[in-house]
Amino acid sequence: MAEQKRDYYEVLGVDKNADDATIKKAYRVLAKKYHPDMNPGDKVAEAKFKEASEAYAVLSDADKRRQYDQFGHAAFENGGGGAGGFGGFDFNGGDFSDIFGDIFGDFFGGGRSRQANSNGPMKGANIRVQVRVTFEEAVFGTEKEIELTLKDTCTKCNGTGAKPGTSPETCHKCGGKGQVVFTQQSLFGTVRNVQTCPDCNGTGKVIKDKCPDCYGTGYISSKKKLKVTIPAGIDNGQMVRIRDKGEPGRNGGPRGDLMVEVVVSRHPIFQRQGYNIFSTAPISFAQAALGGDVLIDTVDGKVAYTVKAGTQTDTKIRLKGKGVPSIQNPDSRGDQYVTLIVQVPTGLTSSSKDLLRKFDELTGDSLHEVERKSANGSEETGKKKKKGFFS
Ligand SMILES: [Zn+2]
Ligand SMILES: [Zn+2]
Repeated sequence: MAEQKRDYYEVLGVDKNADDATIKKAYRVLAKKYHPDMNPGDKVAEAKFKEASEAYAVLSDADKRRQYDQFGHAAFENGGGGAGGFGGFDFNGGDFSDIFGDIFGDFFGGGRSRQANSNGPMKGANIRVQVRVTFEEAVFGTEKEIELTLKDTCTKCNGTGAKPGTSPETCHKCGGKGQVVFTQQSLFGTVRNVQTCPDCNGTGKVIKDKCPDCYGTGYISSKKKLKVTIPAGIDNGQMVRIRDKGEPGRNGGPRGDLMVEVVVSRHPIFQRQGYNIFSTAPISFAQAALGGDVLIDTVDGKVAYTVKAGTQTDTKIRLKGKGVPSIQNPDSRGDQYVTLIVQVPTGLTSSSKDLLRKFDELTGDSLHEVERKSANGSEETGKKKKKGFFS
C-alpha cells in the first residue's frame, strides 16, 4: 500500500520546506479543480481530490507533518485502527469538517458553505409568490395586496425553540458541528462523505424541552397582508423583490426576500412586444375608400386617427408614444402599431345592395379588371403592392 502512494509534497506540488500558506494555497487550487461538485461522475478527478485532501490533511497539521517527514507514509499505516479512510490514514470527523470549513467555506458559495458554517449567521430563504395583474395594470403600474404566511421569530423562546428557562444542548451525534462523516465503500477504496447531521438537522443543537408556543421550531407562522407596488412597464414573468420579507434568517442572519412574480393577463385587443403594443382595428369599407377619422383603441382610451382615402386592408400605422412606459423611465413610452382591417360589409339590405351595384357600374372598369385577374388565378390585392411595415 505504502509504495503505491505518491509523496504528499509531490501531490500538492510544493517544496519540502513550503510554509503553511503555500501548502494551503496549493491545496485550494487542486481542491477547486478536482472537487466532485465541479466534476460530477469523474472518477479520476475524485481520486485526485482524495489524494490532495489526504496530503493536505497531513501537511497542514504540524504534528502529522513532522511524523510524515520522519517516517513517510509508514507513519500513518497503523494509525487508523483499521478504519480505512484515505487509504490508511484516518480522518476523524473533526479534521474533515475543519478542512471543509476552512478551505471550502469561502469559495463554494451556496450549499457547501451553508453546511460547513451551519452555526454561523445565515440569510433566510427567499419566498416566491405570483401576483396576477391586468394588461393595463402592467402598463401603468398598480399596487396589489397579497396575503401570505410569514414566519417570525418566536418571542417566547427568542427563536431558540427551547422552553423558556432551558436552552438547546449541543448535539451529541455531531458534537455541535451540524455534520457527520460517514464512510462508503467504492471502487477506489473507502470514501468519506460529509452529511448534514440527522439528529439536529445541521443546527448543531438539540432541544430537550421544546417551547410550547412554537413547538421547538423557533418560529411562529402567521398570515400577513402586504402591499406590493407593481411598477409601470413591468412585463409578464418579471419579478418584484421586496427585501426582508422572506423566511427569517438563522443565528442572527438577515431575513430572505419576497420575490413577487408578475403574471400579466392576456388582453383581448392588445399584444405586447417589449415596450411596443400591437393591435388590429377594423375600419369600414366606406372609411377605407373615402378616408376620414376613425377611433382606435389604445391603453389611454380611444384616439382619433385620420385614415387616407383609399386605405387598403392590412395597412399598418404607428401611434407614437401609445406603447408601454419604460420600467426605468416612465416618461419614455413605446409606440402602438395598429393593423387596419377593412371590413367587407355583410348582411346587406336590398337598398344597400342596389347602391353597391350602382357603385359597381359607376366605377366598373377598374374593379372588373381585378375580377378578371382573380379568375385567372393571379389575385392582386392592395396588400401585395406594399413594401415594409408602412404603406
Ligand atoms: Zn418558541
Ligand atoms: Zn447533530
